Amino acid sequence: MNYKNYMFSLSLSLSMGFVGLTYPGKTNQYITDKLGITSVRVNNIIAPSSVEELQNIVSSATLPISIAGASYSQGGQTGYPDGIVIDMQKLNKVIAFDEKQKTITIQAGATWYDVQKYIDPYNLSVKAMQSYNSFSIGGSLSINAHGRDIAYGSVINGIQSIEILLADGTIVVADRHNNANLFRAAIGGYGLLGIITQATIELTENIELERKVYQCNVDNFKSLFESVIAPDKSVVFYNTDVFPKRYQECLITTWNKTTQSVTDETRLQEQNSRFYIVNKALEMFLRRVPLAQFSRLPVEHITKIKAPTRVVWRNNEMSYSVNQLALDFHFPSTMTLQEYFIPVEHAQKFAEKMSKILKKNWVNVLNVSIRYVPADTTSIMSYAKQDSFAFVLYLNIFNNRWNINNSCKWTQKIIDVALQYNGTYYLPYIMCATKKQFQTAYPQFDDLLKIKQMYDPHNKFRNMLLQKYT
Ligand SMILES: Cc1cc2nc3c(=O)[nH]c(=O)nc-3n(C[C@H](O)[C@H](O)[C@H](O)COP(=O)(O)OP(=O)(O)OC[C@H]3O[C@@H](n4cnc5c(N)ncnc54)[C@H](O)[C@@H]3O)c2cc1C
Repeated sequence: MNYKNYMFSLSLSLSMGFVGLTYPGKTNQYITDKLGITSVRVNNIIAPSSVEELQNIVSSATLPISIAGASYSQGGQTGYPDGIVIDMQKLNKVIAFDEKQKTITIQAGATWYDVQKYIDPYNLSVKAMQSYNSFSIGGSLSINAHGRDIAYGSVINGIQSIEILLADGTIVVADRHNNANLFRAAIGGYGLLGIITQATIELTENIELERKVYQCNVDNFKSLFESVIAPDKSVVFYNTDVFPKRYQECLITTWNKTTQSVTDETRLQEQNSRFYIVNKALEMFLRRVPLAQFSRLPVEHITKIKAPTRVVWRNNEMSYSVNQLALDFHFPSTMTLQEYFIPVEHAQKFAEKMSKILKKNWVNVLNVSIRYVPADTTSIMSYAKQDSFAFVLYLNIFNNRWNINNSCKWTQKIIDVALQYNGTYYLPYIMCATKKQFQTAYPQFDDLLKIKQMYDPHNKFRNMLLQKYT
C-alpha cells in the first residue's frame, strides 16, 4: 500500500469506526469473530450447558444452525443470516482420560489449553494441534488445523474418534472404521455435517525440546529442510520465518528432542498474564507504526540467534496464547492471517511469486512463516493432498469494507499462483477466493456435500462458507 492509500485507508477507518465486513440480516444480534473482522446478523446465539439441551435445540430448530467454538475464524464460518448460532464454550468437560493408552476424551467446546491443563501433570502432551492453544477442540477439528509438528501434520492424525450430533437430534460415534465417511467429512467440514460434541484425542510424552536456529535465504530454505531438517529424527517442531520488505532473509527454528534438562521450568504458558501488556505494546508498534515491522530481523538476531541454548517442555512450546498478540481493539486496523499450502517441489517458485505480489501491493506483512505439512489423505476437505509447505502470512489490515475488499484483489492473485502450482489456500480466514478458485482448490467439496445430503438433507447446518461457495 503506498502512502496515499495508507492515509486514505486510515481516514476511512477513523471516519467509519469499527465496521469490517457485515453480512446482512433482519435482526439485531451479531456473531463477530474475535479479531473483529466479520459480523453476521443472526436471530439468536444460544450457549447450551448440557448435551441434552443441545439435542433439544437441534431437534426443534426451524431456523438454520451455525456453530461457534472460540470464534477465531475470520470470514463468517460461524454464522448464517437470521439463523441460530450454537456457542459451544460451556460444553468443555473432560469425559474420560486413559493415562496408559495416552488418550483424552473431552467435550468440543473446551480449548487446547483445557486439555493441556488436565494432561500436563501426567507429563503428557497433545500430538497434533495449532501453535496457539486458545482455540476450541470443535473449531480446530472442523477446520482440520495443523501446527509446527513435522511428524503428525493435520489434527485429524491425532484424533481417534468423535461424537457428532446430527440434524435429526441423534448422536453417533465416527472414527476410521465406524461411520468413516462422516469422520472424514466432519473433520475439516466447517460445521456443515453436524455438531461435534466430543473427541477422543491422542497424546504423546511431554518431552524436553532444545531450540536450534539456522539463518537461511529464501532460495535455500527448501534444500536446507531436505538435507538438514527432514533427515534429523530428533526434530519435533519446524518453522521458518521470512522477513518482509525484501522477503529474502529467513530464520529456521527447530525444536529437537534432547537429553539436556530444561533451562525454563515453565510447564504451561499462561492464558492471560500482566506481562502480555509488553507483548501487546510491541505488537502494536510492529503493526501500526508504518515500516516498524522491518526492525524485526535485527531484534530476532539478538533474541534468537545470539541467545543462549534454550530447552523447554514440549507443552510449554505448544501453549502460546492468542492473548499474547491479539490486541483488545481492532480499530482502525486489525490482524489477519492467510495461508497457502504448496507441494514441496514448487515451494521455491511460489515464494518468489508471492513476494512479488506482496511487494507490488505494499501489503503490511508482519511475518511469513513456513511450516511443513505431510500429506493428509484422510480428511475429505484435505488442504494438503501431498507433502507441502504451508506459507502463513501474518498481516495487519485496515478494518473497513473498502480496504478488506481491496486486499481481496491481491489475495486472489496469490491464490491463482498457489493453484498454478497445484496448491491450495486455507479456509478459516477472510473468504476472498472466487467461487471458481474455491472449486479448483477444493473439488472434493462436492463429495462433502453428497455426504451432507445423507446426514443433513434439509440443510439445517449452514454458514457463510456454504452460502458463498454453493
Ligand atoms: C492468531 C491465530 C493463529 C492461528 N494459528 C493457526 C495455526 O497455527 N494452525 C492452524 O491450522 N490454524 C491456525 N489459526 C486458525 C484457527 O486454527 C482457526 O481459526 C480455528 O477454527 C479456530 O478455532 P475456533 O475454536 O476459534 O473455531 P471457530 O472460529 O469457532 O469455528 C471454526 C469452524 O468450526 C466450526 N465449529 C466450531 N465448533 C464446532 C463443533 N463443535 N462442531 C462442528 N463444527 C464446529 C464452526 O462452525 C466454523 O465453521 C490461527 C488463527 C489465529 C487467529
